[in-house]
Amino acid sequence: MTRVHRIAAIPGDGIGPEVIEAALDVLDHLGRQSNAFRLEVERFDWGSKRYLREGALMPENGVAALRAFDAILFGAVGAPDVPDHVTLWGLRLAICQGLDQYANLRPTRILPGLSSPLSGVGPGDLDWLIVRENSEGEYAGQGGRSHRGQPHEVATETAIFTRAGVERIMRVAFSQARARPRKHLTVVTKSNAQRYGLVLWDEIAAEVATEFPDVTWDRMLVDAMTVRMTLDPGSLDTIVATNLHADILSDLAAALAGSIGIAPTANLNPERAAPSMFEPIHGSAFDITGKGVANPIGTFWSAAMMLGYLGETEAEARLMRAIEVVTSDPESRPRDLGGACSTAQVTARLCQALDAEG
Ligand code: ATP
Ligand code: MG
Repeated sequence: MTRVHRIAAIPGDGIGPEVIEAALDVLDHLGRQSNAFRLEVERFDWGSKRYLREGALMPENGVAALRAFDAILFGAVGAPDVPDHVTLWGLRLAICQGLDQYANLRPTRILPGLSSPLSGVGPGDLDWLIVRENSEGEYAGQGGRSHRGQPHEVATETAIFTRAGVERIMRVAFSQARARPRKHLTVVTKSNAQRYGLVLWDEIAAEVATEFPDVTWDRMLVDAMTVRMTLDPGSLDTIVATNLHADILSDLAAALAGSIGIAPTANLNPERAAPSMFEPIHGSAFDITGKGVANPIGTFWSAAMMLGYLGETEAEARLMRAIEVVTSDPESRPRDLGGACSTAQVTARLCQALDAEG
């Protein structure tokens, strides 16, 4: 019997619709090659255009509507004429928090044919999984301002770390590390300069580590971590960090792996109490919007992660192999990877690679 998966597609703003349509073409192609599964896709026109028209990026019952789906494929959100905090809180974070997608997974590696800005570092030398805490920490939205505009004005931004929140992200991180060949986890912290939050983070890391005796682990201060990622990338495997630290480290990671255009991410509700969301890490990139040159590979890789999450591991592996065929061939690469292909050409090359495999 054919397995049916219901997908909510939210193309969003800027190049979001371009890369999402490319990924949906690829998923459709994969689906037609296989009798095993079929995706039922529903598109939602949520984003900045809707905000300018109707005053909200998505309807009030938007998050609830998403619960009916098996997974969500998201493009990008953000527009020059809408403030960043409006687009961020009005859609992406509303979904992540509303569906309790507390674990953000960011695999980073150098795909075949691509090179790192680090000299002498090629495919195989940098292969990381960054696990980002996605629900609390520095982005909890707690704090306030007083004495606005006065010389003694004060603003506070309070980071929240709860035992439940830290325990659950540590369990995800250790389990992800256990599933990878090297079974190694680096816990990122800055507890030497803080007295409470990351001290708790460190204590809980040590507690949860006892549940995973087959995983080796170490601790790194976030500042030293940037140096290690740059000078000794091969020494790292799985990495867990707070919302803020992982945000910064994963941009560095994407740059070291070649381009922001290839990097994927999964916002997981690991208990599957609500659907998870898959998206490229890049934003709306208005400088190249409408030109047909956006690199769709980050969205293809995100779609592959989505297939894996849906249990379609064979299709996931096929898609990853086809992505590697595309990146290996200079004639198939988009502009940000030094090639000359348009979004449509990269997509067509990828479908050819799927066909060639049979
Ligand atoms: P946002 O405000 O939503 O984060 P942004 O305009 O800051 O969006 P980013 O995604 O942060 O865009 O990307 C920064 C730059 O990298 C873009 O302006 C664009 O030139 C380039 N870029 C990003 N994604 C891609 C892509 N998929 N293909 C090609 N170039 C890209
Ligand atoms: Mg940006």
